[in-house]
Amino acid sequence: MYNAKSLKAEEFISDQEIKETLAYADANKDNISLIDEIIEKAKLGKGLTHREASVLLACENEEKLQEIYDLAKKIKEDYYGNRIVLFAPLYLSNYCVNGCVYCPYHMKNKHISRKKLTQDEIRKEVIALQDMGHKRLAIELGEDPVNNPIEYVLDSIKTIYDIKHKNGAIRRVNVNIAATTVENYRKLKEAGIGTYILFQETYNKESYESLHPTGPKHDYAYHTEAMDRAMEGGIDDVGLGVLFGLEMYRYEFAGILMHAEHLEAVHGVGPHTISVPRIKRADDIDPSAFDNGISDEIFAKIIALLRVSVPYTGMIISTREAKEVRAKALELGISQISGGSRTSVGGYVEEEPEEDNSAQFDVSDRRTLDEVMKWLIDLNYVPSFCTACYREGRTGDRFMSLCKSKQISNCCHPNALMTLKEYLVDYASPATKEAGLKLIERELLTIPKEKVREVTIQHLKEIENGQRDFRF
Ligand code: SF4
Ligand code: SF4
Repeated sequence: MYNAKSLKAEEFISDQEIKETLAYADANKDNISLIDEIIEKAKLGKGLTHREASVLLACENEEKLQEIYDLAKKIKEDYYGNRIVLFAPLYLSNYCVNGCVYCPYHMKNKHISRKKLTQDEIRKEVIALQDMGHKRLAIELGEDPVNNPIEYVLDSIKTIYDIKHKNGAIRRVNVNIAATTVENYRKLKEAGIGTYILFQETYNKESYESLHPTGPKHDYAYHTEAMDRAMEGGIDDVGLGVLFGLEMYRYEFAGILMHAEHLEAVHGVGPHTISVPRIKRADDIDPSAFDNGISDEIFAKIIALLRVSVPYTGMIISTREAKEVRAKALELGISQISGGSRTSVGGYVEEEPEEDNSAQFDVSDRRTLDEVMKWLIDLNYVPSFCTACYREGRTGDRFMSLCKSKQISNCCHPNALMTLKEYLVDYASPATKEAGLKLIERELLTIPKEKVREVTIQHLKEIENGQRDFRF
């Protein structure tokens, strides 16, 4: 029986409810008056239910689809302006005891090189990331209680936060580790993590079990209920995601919105972020072996509909996607992207030779961070390294209520400009610096409150004079 408030995975992600939702969406995909009603509701900027959003996902009417895309762009603009937050993944270890059939780190892959960074190697990787200009990392590890115990994760987080190289600092560490216990989540909270990220991969229990044939990840309920345990452990920013291509996308789309509704119903706060990875080629993984792959058009439709369904949830896209796909995704709803990423263990210090492949997936967007920065600036986006909310304690429901009232943008914009200025002064190439400084001049004029504008201008001057780390 479907129950958004239940703590049992099979009740808050009810297979029956998803199937009924898909049947309802099919029955109404040409019901223009219902579609109009749903679009009108979405215009209020307060989101849609999984049923409503699924009807729009099934709709193929060109005119209505254009209305949805226009609305997604407007909601993106209203909540996120033209700011894009940047981050980088940091792979700490690819030891893994699971058998996920879509990931080259699966235990049976004997020819991939297994690596685990020492604390000294982590230091070197972080210095390389700081020298690129990064301030926000997402650490990634396989599941392996012997090689990657929680103590290793905690030590690594401490190492990362402690490194201050030149003007560099990692100010927010998001963590992507396997589903774990409330006690371990509490330890991660105490270590000062930003978002806890865990991809569901697929919400379909039957597919989930066959895609994860061995290892602790095989347990669908334990994995699906992880965010509830994380919240019980005190982590209030959690990041959801599915791996598009494993299951029917319409099933996943309804599932992820139901998961968001569940978190809101039980904990009073929805997901902080949603990621939208698509399955990609990697060491012994061929994406064509999975027959649920989605086209770029469907991918764009999913992004637009997630944007209108959960307007206050940040959306993330990685370098799995090529530049052109990322450009379209930014317009329709993505608010965070990775840049200059290496998906191998130790890849920032030294690019690994091909025969020594420890990467989790092939990167499509291979540009440097500086190239990504220049590209964003030329597209009139403000690249931001802001981490202010987490450091000011604006997390969980505090963050969400500011976000829902749109007050948050009074902080985001000046913070984006100040962190961009830090980047331009410390790390940018001459061309990026020139374009970025012009952008800051233009964007200062868009700060509505005079007092905030004055303080921002003051801080921008202080950054030129060597001071760092201002925030609203
Ligand atoms: S997806 Fe994660 S859990 Fe699965 S094999 Fe890869 S690293 Fe291990
Ligand atoms: S002010 Fe908060 S919401 Fe805005 S960009 Fe910074 S961290 Fe994100």
